[in-house]
Amino acid sequence: MSIMALKRTKIVDIFNPELIGEKVCVKGWVRTRRGNKNVQFVALNDGSTIKNIQIVFDLAKFSEDELKPITTGASLHVEGELVASQGKGQTCEIQAETIEIYGTADPQTYPLQKKGHTLEFLREIAHLRPRTNTFGAVLRIRHNLAFAIHKFFNERGFFYLNTPLITASDCEGAGAMFQVTTLDLNNLPKTEDGTIDYAQDFFGKQTSLTVSGQLEGELGATALGAIYTFGPTFRAENSNTPRHLAEFWMIEPEVAFNDITDNMDLAEEFIKYCIVYALENCKDDIEFLAQMYDKNLVERLEFVLHNQFMRLPYTEAIKILEASDKKFEFPVSWGIDLQSEHERYLVEEHFKKPVILTDYPKEIKAFYMKLNEDGKTVRAMDVLFPQIGEIIGGSEREADYDKLLARIEELHIPMKDMWWYLDTRRFGTVPHSGFGLGFERLVLFVTGMTNIRDVIPFPRTPKNAEF
Ligand code: ATP
Ligand code: MN
Repeated sequence: MSIMALKRTKIVDIFNPELIGEKVCVKGWVRTRRGNKNVQFVALNDGSTIKNIQIVFDLAKFSEDELKPITTGASLHVEGELVASQGKGQTCEIQAETIEIYGTADPQTYPLQKKGHTLEFLREIAHLRPRTNTFGAVLRIRHNLAFAIHKFFNERGFFYLNTPLITASDCEGAGAMFQVTTLDLNNLPKTEDGTIDYAQDFFGKQTSLTVSGQLEGELGATALGAIYTFGPTFRAENSNTPRHLAEFWMIEPEVAFNDITDNMDLAEEFIKYCIVYALENCKDDIEFLAQMYDKNLVERLEFVLHNQFMRLPYTEAIKILEASDKKFEFPVSWGIDLQSEHERYLVEEHFKKPVILTDYPKEIKAFYMKLNEDGKTVRAMDVLFPQIGEIIGGSEREADYDKLLARIEELHIPMKDMWWYLDTRRFGTVPHSGFGLGFERLVLFVTGMTNIRDVIPFPRTPKNAEF
């Protein structure tokens, strides 16, 4: 039987009672084939949904030989009638009439056979893992969250600002940087005093991949009023943790005239909006992941929605940690940078809800944060989440030219790199605030996955840049 010229229906749209009795066309990849001498069943998936459509092959119409190449991973074009299904677990199925096999997948070598694979194994075949139920679900949720982020800001009058990925300022201090150069590393040009002559490099100076778009974001906010960035960010930090990538995506809103309280309100509303969007638009995928990996996932997402985040100063948090009976690996005292174990204790054991910590010691925070009246702390805010720890870091920025300059000098930040940034404070300076949300940390939370390598299609981590 030859292929008719039917328009393809995506599998996500096929479970529609109005289509029953119609001739339909679907295309996708085979998940499984089973059956007996009279009838064979193929589960077909096209990535548009976690659901498979069942294709029924009557062996009176198809020969064994015709069906032989239909193994897990093969790609098919199927036409036939959509009929109500007798089998449990599906509402309808397709009675195959004509098929075309686009490509086979040799069962001896195709690595994704039907048995469950470990997430570790799937990382080694990241080029194929998007074809699994788990990664299909994660990637669809990731897309929906990205869409929700743009929707959230657009609805509130924020402008999407694209900040550069290549930067000549290495003063952000957010993490170690990857250098960008076209110099011949085997034959570096030297100046008279023996240092590398960056005047001969592509940009005429030393450049790196950005660790944050914030400084340029501030330029946008003090012109457009409210902006956000959403782009790749690079940190050459050799931290092999389940929460760090060398290349990750960050969302950085920056708002003129917002103080630290407005900033906290924005952060809380923003995260809750994204979670609601995912719950409403990714129901099947979230349910699948909950069933497979984390029975409490939906409960935890709803819990975040229904609770106000706890807000308290760093100094209060230190007192709580010092008073607790818990044995921490890293001892607690005022002035320390909080470790994940401290953050998780506060969120998971003490307050049992998300926490926003504010007013950190200036020594452990970046130079641009607004100094408090006490002269010791800055108007920083970190949002801490269950399982994840820090999901957002932000602050009210120092708007006063003299105070900002004093801080830059105190920290010996090279002024030649900072002149353009300081101009925001020289000309029409305003109070302003912003924060950075690590996109993958949000995806981790919403999917219930536990390793950040499993929520980005092709992770970049120390010693790993395959695919
Ligand atoms: P951490 O202490 O977890 O390393 P940070 O203090 O370095 O985070 P910021 O510089 O404030 O983080 O960056 C803003 C946000 O970007 C963080 O709250 C986090 O969500 C995310 N983030 C930071 N570093 C990474 C990374 N290496 N991989 C993935 N996300 C990251
Ligand atoms: Mn870091």
